Amino acid sequence: HAPDAWLATPSRWPDVPALRRAHASHKGSRGDVVVVGGQLPSASDGVGMAGAAVLAARAALRAGAGRVYVGLLNGEATLPPWDGGQPALMLRTAQAVLASALPEQAVVVAGCGGGASMAEVLPALLARAPRLVLDADALNALGPAAREGARSPAAPGDPWALRRAAGWRTVLTPHPLEAARLLGTDVAGVQADRLGAARALAHRLGATIVLKGSGTVIAAPDGAPIVNASGDGLLASAGTGDVLAGLIGARLAHGDANDLPAAIAEAVAAHGGLTQRWTGAWPPTATDLLD
Ligand code: AMP
Ligand code: MG
Repeated sequence: HAPDAWLATPSRWPDVPALRRAHASHKGSRGDVVVVGGQLPSASDGVGMAGAAVLAARAALRAGAGRVYVGLLNGEATLPPWDGGQPALMLRTAQAVLASALPEQAVVVAGCGGGASMAEVLPALLARAPRLVLDADALNALGPAAREGARSPAAPGDPWALRRAAGWRTVLTPHPLEAARLLGTDVAGVQADRLGAARALAHRLGATIVLKGSGTVIAAPDGAPIVNASGDGLLASAGTGDVLAGLIGARLAHGDANDLPAAIAEAVAAHGGLTQRWTGAWPPTATDLLD
């Protein structure tokens, strides 16, 4: 059905050549991932979604990133001192992450569970993160400027035009509803032409688009899109998208992604391959994918 698209097939994550490690590797040579999202509850709304950011961060760590930082959006709840499931993660507030220099070459994964507060930190991330993966609430927080795309000539300070001019890499990982919001259409409109929707967003933003769902489409502003063949309905549960965002972050943090869509496709194919190898009697949860 997609004669001009490449098909990605599942691979076992360790087969990705970039993840084979030189003997003299150290944690600083294996890539840093910074996850920003995960709103902690405040007294006024009591709504917390910190688990989404933790899932993305755990996935990045499990997939071989050298160091993983988590910047949680601080409601009034106390920041947990560590993640009991993955104490190697460095938990801090998003404000603390932004108050210091981002690690050089870090890949920032933004939006997982970020809630409405994501809008407060997104401009700084767009302006400061040369390699940025936007998911979930970071997509919802993109303003009309993003929806209309970078203007030509660019308005002063237009973050999209500045990122493009600097050669910075931006990856968006919308599910169909998030893509529909960005395109100003509805889910049926996106699903009727998934290749067209992904390409339209890629052109508009000068970004690489990962349109998730059955047959995930990876589309860059130029070149043929890639359609992922792995994965199935077992992935349709809460948190699996956050795990994917972390896997993409780790894959890009390994630093050899000259062909960005191909590198992302490796992560997407490996993510889908996890459920295809699942032998449990009950469907896997997002944390089962990590294990
Ligand atoms: P999200 O919608 O952000 O929670 O992400 C869900 C993840 O599961 C994405 O990576 C989807 O591509 C994947 N997924 C969900 N349902 C399916 C399906 N039926 N076939 C393949 N992948 C799926
Ligand atoms: Mg999601």
